[in-house]
Amino acid sequence: MPSRQYITTAIDYPNAAPHMGHVLEKILADVVARWFRLRGDTVRFQIGTDEHGVKIQQTAAKQNLTPKELVDRNVPQFEDLYRRLHVSFDAFVRTTNQQKHWPTVQALWKKLAEAGALEKRTYTGLYCPGCERFLTRKDLVDGKCPDHQIPPQEVAEENYFFLLGRKTQDLKKLLTVRKGGYRIIPDFRAPETLQLIEQGLEDVSFSRPTSSLSWGIPVPDDSSQTMYVWCDALTNYISGIGLLTDHAEKEWWDDATVTHVIGKDIARFHALIWPAMLQYGGIRTPDQLLIHGFLTSEGQKMSKSIGNVVVPDDVLKLVGGNPDPLRFYLSHQIPVGNDGDFSWDRFKEIYEGILGNQLGNLLNRVLVLLKKEGSQLSGFGKDPLGVDWKKYQEAMDGFALQDGLAVPVGLMDRANKYIAEKKPWELKGVEKMEVLSPLAEVLRHITLMLLPFIPGSAQRMAAQLNLPYADTMLEKGFVITATMKKWGAEEGWKGVGEPSILFPRLEK
Ligand SMILES: [Zn+2]
Repeated sequence: MPSRQYITTAIDYPNAAPHMGHVLEKILADVVARWFRLRGDTVRFQIGTDEHGVKIQQTAAKQNLTPKELVDRNVPQFEDLYRRLHVSFDAFVRTTNQQKHWPTVQALWKKLAEAGALEKRTYTGLYCPGCERFLTRKDLVDGKCPDHQIPPQEVAEENYFFLLGRKTQDLKKLLTVRKGGYRIIPDFRAPETLQLIEQGLEDVSFSRPTSSLSWGIPVPDDSSQTMYVWCDALTNYISGIGLLTDHAEKEWWDDATVTHVIGKDIARFHALIWPAMLQYGGIRTPDQLLIHGFLTSEGQKMSKSIGNVVVPDDVLKLVGGNPDPLRFYLSHQIPVGNDGDFSWDRFKEIYEGILGNQLGNLLNRVLVLLKKEGSQLSGFGKDPLGVDWKKYQEAMDGFALQDGLAVPVGLMDRANKYIAEKKPWELKGVEKMEVLSPLAEVLRHITLMLLPFIPGSAQRMAAQLNLPYADTMLEKGFVITATMKKWGAEEGWKGVGEPSILFPRLEK
């Protein structure tokens, strides 16, 4: 049954260039979005940037820029990188967009105020004038700010607080109820979130005096206060579809399955603060939270001081700008929800081993051999290799993308063994075609199964195989039909096209 899917990622903080963590998340969400479209769902996929806050203010000041100049310089780098990675987003929300984002944010704030969810209180904390922010006792080293080597001052200021504590029971119910609740995927990420509720929920500071935070969205009806993070950032998920305005696309919220894709570090905000805001605001809560882990580099935390930070563009450069090796690496190496590692050696191994040899050479050998026979196909016979769409689909539908990808990768492996065993180059006539035609057919299935993961390469495979739908495969409306999944059922497919190298060898 076709359904409506609304997928979002976290919005990125553009105080520096995009990093591999951003890329991991966008590619994960993109594979999901593409799979939903391929199985026939109607999809809206939104990403964006979280552009306000003191950090942006400070980073800009250090570079002699206004905050607006800084974000206008950095944000296009994010959008451009994601386009080059073939992230198929439908909308890109910027929280500085006063026409598109702010009206929903301010309307939601008003709803929260009306519902009694906000309370102005005096907050007393340890303020570092160097950092221009409050520190916690944990931040301090020998009673001093570690960055500025000065003891913080005790400062009192007025904040609006969001009364999260009152929602404890509602949230517990929402996260544990079996039907109609807010599901955490993968399952093993759920207990740690529930534990947060058990520890007790504290009310959350939702605003700052405009004198200390000016780069943000003004609090409605109180010019002394600027919104602090939550109502500004989280609300992007509904501002992008205009909720609470006169141009709301309600069908993307009320009639869709809403999936937020985020990192494990921000699960707390998405599992607790966000649904509580929606409940207070009388808006339905999302359906699922898809949580991913972190990426290390060569087995260690990525950090500038270790010097092991992996720059996404360096990875792209190594493979001539082709986004698919990186897309494949992340999907293949990191089971959804788990932490993973990026290693240059492993990346090269996978590029040359699986993509170059297992996949590229297989396609090339089959096409070259068929070309010698006139490039025609004759009779696919019975499937000798066990194409298993059911297994693939179950894994993909269940967000076990690594298991889904393992299906075509397993087929490649079996096809390579099959060709080595049958030695079609030693055969002639019908016998030869009885080996090659089924191999071409297996490649057709592999191509379709790889489409959400490495769309560009899958499309090039389809073009070389001369599949009737090769030209339309990258369109958002392309659906993998029941006929396409059947063995030998592609009526209009009579012959293959010209072979060419898919994944060229890396320069030494
Ligand atoms: Zn400081």
